Amino acid sequence: MSRSEKAAEIRRIMGVDGENIGKNARNLSDNASDAIAAFDSYEELRAETRRIKEEAIASLPERIEEVTEAVEENGGHVYVAQDAEDANRYIEGVMDEQDAEHLVKSKSMTTEELELNHHLEGAGYEVTETDLGEFVIQVADETPSHLIAPAMHRSPPDIAELFNEYFDLDEPLSEDPHELTEFARERVGERIREADVGLTGANFVVTETGTISIVTNEGNARKTAVTPPTHVAVTGIEKLIPTVSDLRPFLELIARTGTGQEIGAYLTLLTPPVETPSLDFDTGEYGQPDDREFHLVLIDNGRMAMREDDQLRETLYCIRCGACSNACANFQSVGGHAFGGETYSGGIGTGWEAGVHGLDSAADMNDLCTGCSQCVNKCPVKIDIPWINTVVRDRLNRSNESESFDFLVDGLTPDAEPEGLDVQKRLFGNIETFAKLGSIAPGLSNAAIESSAVQRLLDRFVGIDSRRSLPTLADETLVEWAAGRRRANPDSDREAVLYPDLYTNYFSPERGKAAVRVLEALGVAVRVPAVPESGRAPLSQGMIDTADEKASAVYAALAEHLDADRDIVVVEPSDLAMFRTEYERLLPERSYSRLSDGSYELFEYVYGLLENGAKIDTLPTAVDEEITYHSHCQQRTLGLDAYTTEVLDRAGYDVSTTDIECCGMAGSFGYKSEYYELSMDVGSRLDEQLPDSGPVVASGTSCGEQIAALTADGAPHPIRLLDPRQSR
Ligand code: SF4
Repeated sequence: MSRSEKAAEIRRIMGVDGENIGKNARNLSDNASDAIAAFDSYEELRAETRRIKEEAIASLPERIEEVTEAVEENGGHVYVAQDAEDANRYIEGVMDEQDAEHLVKSKSMTTEELELNHHLEGAGYEVTETDLGEFVIQVADETPSHLIAPAMHRSPPDIAELFNEYFDLDEPLSEDPHELTEFARERVGERIREADVGLTGANFVVTETGTISIVTNEGNARKTAVTPPTHVAVTGIEKLIPTVSDLRPFLELIARTGTGQEIGAYLTLLTPPVETPSLDFDTGEYGQPDDREFHLVLIDNGRMAMREDDQLRETLYCIRCGACSNACANFQSVGGHAFGGETYSGGIGTGWEAGVHGLDSAADMNDLCTGCSQCVNKCPVKIDIPWINTVVRDRLNRSNESESFDFLVDGLTPDAEPEGLDVQKRLFGNIETFAKLGSIAPGLSNAAIESSAVQRLLDRFVGIDSRRSLPTLADETLVEWAAGRRRANPDSDREAVLYPDLYTNYFSPERGKAAVRVLEALGVAVRVPAVPESGRAPLSQGMIDTADEKASAVYAALAEHLDADRDIVVVEPSDLAMFRTEYERLLPERSYSRLSDGSYELFEYVYGLLENGAKIDTLPTAVDEEITYHSHCQQRTLGLDAYTTEVLDRAGYDVSTTDIECCGMAGSFGYKSEYYELSMDVGSRLDEQLPDSGPVVASGTSCGEQIAALTADGAPHPIRLLDPRQSR
């Protein structure tokens, strides 16, 4: 798909699905945030779920053997299907053996992955979905737009219109959700009573006992499992956990993170085949308890290979609660029909698609993860979802076919990436090199950047949207400025290095200068050495090898300062997030620990100084001046945003904060022509929270740029408020 085709497709889906997806996903995400905040054991149980999953996946072959023994001892059958075709063939065989014509199904993303309905219908069987959302999707002949709420993109009026068109009704249905639910429930109930085979998924399968656990909000899964005489449970092999007591942390968390409920409305634990006799609803006759058949179909379909893959293995810990989708700003604008592959959607969808369908199926959705990390603290199994997206992006980059002229740049580019890398990604990933070159003659460079002819060329050939204003280079970098001045407090016991991140150094040195002056006013001796950019820029484009080289270069440049016990102070939150999060994967353990432990977000550091005796009145203060503060998404994930609010409050400001985490810009994302409109749509939700007039400050460079685009007023870094020079 070309960039313009992709932009058009995103625009179309935003128009069709965006409103309902946005409302419903935000609602679920807000509920989840409240439920998590009210649950004291959240972090403790997350650690437990993570441990159980890690151990279960590590011992997967033994777990499969164990569950096979348990189920067979209970009187059921187990089949491990290598792939979709194998699974579908087995299930068709069960239908055939039972002389069955009609199968009812509860919600199961795994059977979506297998395209089971399509297969069985093609073989002449009737399939009825019993989950309300899946029922809607089946009637509409659509694909799910969300992992747990497949019809999230449809509103009650849409559904009423759909049902009224599809079913031959004496009286048309109203738009009342209760009436629609009642209608579907009656139809589905009738179909369950008539069915020969009931097929469910399973949220968890206990290997010790062969117990399956299904969590739903409707109860039809339970009916599907126990009403027809034959029950088939289809689930991925990653759903196996060892013991019944291991269920507890998962059941405590799955509904809290997915929907904000303390527990799902229907929590089913079955050790099939169940002993209740089946009932023929036509004759009223009961069958014999031992007439019941049970088949557990465990799906591999790429999962064993994911288990061997150090980078994708984490995906298998996913319990498909949907929280990462709900929390994601881009998902809230487009839903799973854009932010999805063949089956799976949302942030974790990339890992699943790459693992079960192959890299190509993840290609179109992968860039929609901007790495903002909002999903990270919402995941009940502590999966590093942004990292999985980065890894898949890197692999996609490497799978690109070389263009005919790539040999011309091979070996000449300043990065560690292979030929074939998309030019847009190569440019954004190497932005430090361009900034360095441009800074040789910033006047000329800026004139070129601001020329409409150059902007049109960049739009056409590189995919940088000409509706965006590109940042201009400063006449003097922060490092040059610092080198040309006398350092204050040379004898101070407290020494700090202000990390000259790419944006502060080349584009916005004023905020760096303000930071230096603030720290000096608080008694710190500050240095600003030349240090390479953190690697955030290449990492955001999936250029992991290049980011890896940058991380080593940054550590090499900062090591002497760490040796000398100098604190590393970071202005740009996305760079601090590199030091504290991604560097764990890029640096040797000791180097990572030293840098991570020795570096601080600027306001976190200022707060620490104030707590340790520095005086706020050495800085300019205000008297109840109102200010709106937008913190940075990664700063929030690290739990550091409160420091800014607290320091500004101590300085006399009356601070209001936005509660929108993502501004939509996300580094280079909002500059890309295929994503510009999506970026502005996400930004519009932030815009609604900004004051009509009055100052706004923002910690992130891209947040400031987005706010400037949304409001025409800039949003400087909050440190400018405290600058002894007060040159905002
Ligand atoms: S990655 Fe985590 S948050 Fe996302 S669906 Fe899976 S378990 Fe839920």
